[in-house]
Amino acid sequence: MILLDGKQTSAQIKAEIAETVSTMVQQNKRVPHLAAVLVGTNGASMTYVGAKVKACELVGFESTLIELPEETSEQELLDTIYNLNNNSDIDGFIVQLPLPKHINENHILMAINPDKDVDGFHPMNVGRLTLDLPTFISATPYGIMELLERYNIPTSGKHVVVIGRSHIVGRPMSILMSQKRPAGNATVTVAHSRTKNLSELTKTADIVIAALGMPEFLTSDMIKDDAVIIDVGITRVPDSSKKRGYRIAGDVDFESVSQKASYITPVPGGVGPMTIAMLLKNTLLARSRSSVAS
Ligand code: NAD
Repeated sequence: MILLDGKQTSAQIKAEIAETVSTMVQQNKRVPHLAAVLVGTNGASMTYVGAKVKACELVGFESTLIELPEETSEQELLDTIYNLNNNSDIDGFIVQLPLPKHINENHILMAINPDKDVDGFHPMNVGRLTLDLPTFISATPYGIMELLERYNIPTSGKHVVVIGRSHIVGRPMSILMSQKRPAGNATVTVAHSRTKNLSELTKTADIVIAALGMPEFLTSDMIKDDAVIIDVGITRVPDSSKKRGYRIAGDVDFESVSQKASYITPVPGGVGPMTIAMLLKNTLLARSRSSVAS
């Protein structure tokens, strides 16, 4: 079994980005600038946003964190987005999800200028993705594609089962892997909460991508020998033996599945770090586009 080391791979990607940024600095060019908007004090969201801002600093990007209180109205958040859309110093920005319940997530995502939508969630960018046009690919599926490619995992003609059909992971993942592109050309089955006899499908899969958010859901009896296993899940499971009171669990029962798999991503240290690296890649892309536009 070979570990698909997202920590190491993402460090390599970040080093590549840092090199590009240092060349920009030498050429007196403006460095990429990512802004992140955080509404409220959700613990996981604060951790994710903090990690994104820190990653920006590490590669030499400029970053701006806009923290808004939980009671921020939808209109106030929309005003913040309009300001970011019109701020030519900002190349790309993200609005950390989930948002407080009184704010309609769709209204917010639709308000983001697609050219600055480095999360790739705007309908324009999702549409471009489905049509094989250049776009911002949402960071988690993009990170998985990059991991498969960098580890030279064959995907052409392989059967991939994606468990989960969410807009940010399962759906784009299934589209990407069926496309004619590196780490693509696969035959893809999308499974979800209404899928019957899931194990019968996963047992035929060369690659299983588990993105359902149920700790240790995929067990070794559900996969075939030498399958490639990508674990997207991140769930905080209460654990009194830990100082912080919880542990992070993936969607895969790593202990049993790793005995049977040919490649597997660990949690943590697999898909998670890749997600942040790909957000940086998208920000770099946004910067190169804005320099073409200006
Ligand atoms: P989601 O809740 O939006 O979607 C879950 C999907 O799983 C749904 O489409 C649902 O139909 C499917 N599902 C639920 N129960 C199922 C079952 N029993 N059998 C088959 N399918 C089932 O979740 P999401 O936003 O896609 O995230 C999934 C997981 O990935 C979560 O743990 C989340 O925290 C994690 N995640 C990780 C990263 C990362 O960077 N590593 C990024 C995004 C999400």
